Amino acid sequence: MTSTSLAGALTPAHLRFLEDLFPGEGLVTAPVEMAVYGADSSRRSAMPWAVVRPRSEEQIVELLKWAEAERVPLVPRARGTGMSGGAVPAFGGIVVSCLWLDQVLNVDADDFAADVEPGVVTAEFQARVQKQKLFYPPDPASLKISTLGGNVATCAGGMRAVKYGVTRDYVLGVRAVLPGGRIVNAGGRTHKNVVGLDLTRLFVGSCGTLGLFTRLTLKLLPLPEGSATVLGAFGSLQEALAGARGVFRAGILPTAMEFLDAKACWAIGQIRDVPWPTGANGEAATQAVLVLKVDGSKAALAAELARLEAALEPANPLCLFKGLGAQEEEPLWEMRRLVSPACFHLGPDKLGEDVAVPRGKTAEAVEGFQAIGREQGIHVVCYGHLGDGNTHVNIIFDAADPDQAARAKACKEAVFRLTLALGGTLSGEHGTGITKGPYVSWQLGETERALMAGIKNVFDPSGILNPGKGWG
Ligand SMILES: Cc1cc2nc3c(=O)[nH]c(=O)nc-3n(C[C@H](O)[C@H](O)[C@H](O)COP(=O)(O)OP(=O)(O)OC[C@H]3O[C@@H](n4cnc5c(N)ncnc54)[C@H](O)[C@@H]3O)c2cc1C
Repeated sequence: MTSTSLAGALTPAHLRFLEDLFPGEGLVTAPVEMAVYGADSSRRSAMPWAVVRPRSEEQIVELLKWAEAERVPLVPRARGTGMSGGAVPAFGGIVVSCLWLDQVLNVDADDFAADVEPGVVTAEFQARVQKQKLFYPPDPASLKISTLGGNVATCAGGMRAVKYGVTRDYVLGVRAVLPGGRIVNAGGRTHKNVVGLDLTRLFVGSCGTLGLFTRLTLKLLPLPEGSATVLGAFGSLQEALAGARGVFRAGILPTAMEFLDAKACWAIGQIRDVPWPTGANGEAATQAVLVLKVDGSKAALAAELARLEAALEPANPLCLFKGLGAQEEEPLWEMRRLVSPACFHLGPDKLGEDVAVPRGKTAEAVEGFQAIGREQGIHVVCYGHLGDGNTHVNIIFDAADPDQAARAKACKEAVFRLTLALGGTLSGEHGTGITKGPYVSWQLGETERALMAGIKNVFDPSGILNPGKGWG
């Protein structure tokens, strides 16, 4: 046994152990092949010491026994779509790819529950349960390319969170392997369970720092029969926000409530024909767009659309477009999906923040974020999950210009300060990982951080699991 590896790389003895445990393609050591396992969608990267690809829980148990004894850091990884560098081995270590653990083990229409391995792609799971008229609501925009394990480790959210909540609300149980090889079975298959502390919730959002998931038990719902969408364009941000308030005050709980600010609307117009007024030919230019979805029985949907329309009318929309059923809704939602790539029409680089504020503070937050951009002379594009108070604040700049880069950083920090002053959180979806690590202490007090460090120490006393991704 050695205690040197946390500071260094692998020894020949380590490599022999890994070759035995992960024969053939299960072990990757060639730098050209490993490089892709060292990056994620945060655009951060670091070369892994090695990459292993377990096919079974037994291999993971042996790996974690050995890693604990040898003090070798491990970084769990799935599809690498994370936006905060959670899967990047920035502090060294072996990357453990969970993509070969990709089986749906069972789907039970009576229990409304399913057991899955962590490497199952989210959209494939949704399609699988849909065949049994079941519904798994969490819908991160990355659902076709991210995994259930990654979603649970980051507590991914999506557009349907307004009505259905986030990943956390659908995890009934987690089976995980801890450093030293101990197996934990947290939670279970029941929809209610109050025996003991809620270890399941501790694992959700833990970013691979507490244990390596090998099985997840997920809650399912009956599949809604259909859905309908309304897209409304407004002549001011205030009118759009008033429209959103009107919807809630009318007693409607939409499945999704998304918004685009004026810069987002303009940028989308640069890459696609848009349905809303653009200010050409003397018409009023669109300053904000709302996109709302409702779901339910086919018989009720037409009436729900009419209620939505009536709730939005007092806010003076410039126009409203309606879609009943997937085919009619798709072109309306395409507008929302285009915003992220469209932002690059405003500049070559962006800082993408995912702050959230209490719902009632959304108007103040968005107006404040836009004012920060004006003060710094930087494009700030706001869009996203209005119904949750979770705004994607995109700060667009040119990283090659040091002055712009400094102003972009000043913008980001001002956005964080305003968010916290409004009682919000620095991350509603993407987690802190390495990109927001330096700012965690702006939000969490010493007492809270000490408790989290203590919990981490109970699960992982040697600090070998995803080092540097904590909350210190
Ligand atoms: C285009 C795009 C759109 C996105 N949209 C959204 C969105 O709408 N909402 C949202 O919340 N996020 C979104 N994201 C971010 C990202 O998709 C999510 O964070 C997702 O949950 C990551 O899943 P993954 O499979 O790629 O995991 P990875 O990025 O590989 O890993 C994420 C974290 O999970 C840990 N992990 C992975 N597997 C395991 C395991 N078996 N056991 C323990 N820990 C593990 C890793 O260590 C890491 O900390 C988006 C990303 C992109 C690129």
